[in-house]
Amino acid sequence: MLNVIIFGPPGSGKGTQSEKIIAKFGLAHISTGDILRAEIKAESKLGKEAAQFINRGELVPDATIIGMLENKLNGLTDAKGVIFDGFPRTVAQAEALKEMLQKRGEDISVMLNLEVNREELISRLLKRGETSGRSDDNLETIEKRIKVYEEQTSPVIGFYKTEGTYKGIKGVGTIDEIFDRISNAIEE
Ligand code: UDP
Ligand code: MG
Repeated sequence: MLNVIIFGPPGSGKGTQSEKIIAKFGLAHISTGDILRAEIKAESKLGKEAAQFINRGELVPDATIIGMLENKLNGLTDAKGVIFDGFPRTVAQAEALKEMLQKRGEDISVMLNLEVNREELISRLLKRGETSGRSDDNLETIEKRIKVYEEQTSPVIGFYKTEGTYKGIKGVGTIDEIFDRISNAIEE
């Protein structure tokens, strides 16, 4: 199976590129951010708890996210592979994912890190905020999300470098240019 992690700071293009990867490689999509937003919309208990963190630009606690992910993985049958979008966001989540996949006789094929500078991230997210309706696409929350990314999420890069599955992808350019880089990295 082809199991791909699409990684990068908020606004780096994970969701956009995931759609293209799915279309080309036929993978199942797991976006923890999308699952959380669906829970919020459904006004579930999980959604109500998660909204508190998301609106502050903070991370939903590891135990909640890991449980949610395990449920989602259990629901997948005969997939050709999975694209993990926006997960793992902490080293503890990366370790939990490794264990969950090991139990299934699987592993991560490649971790793709979309590299985008801070100015570009902020400008993309502010632009998205004009139409996304997302409660966290405003300047104050965007800056908080980037700070949380730097402090809590960027150490995940070191984890996958040690695993030997890390690949950096230049995340600036047209959507198709970036997708070409991603396709080449997956096919390598
Ligand atoms: N979030 C989280 N854990 C996850 C996914 C999302 O805590 O595994 C929360 C977090 O508050 C984050 C927000 O949901 O800022 C939006 O996540 P998403 O991945 O959609 O945003 P992106 O980083 O792609 O802009
Ligand atoms: Mg996203």
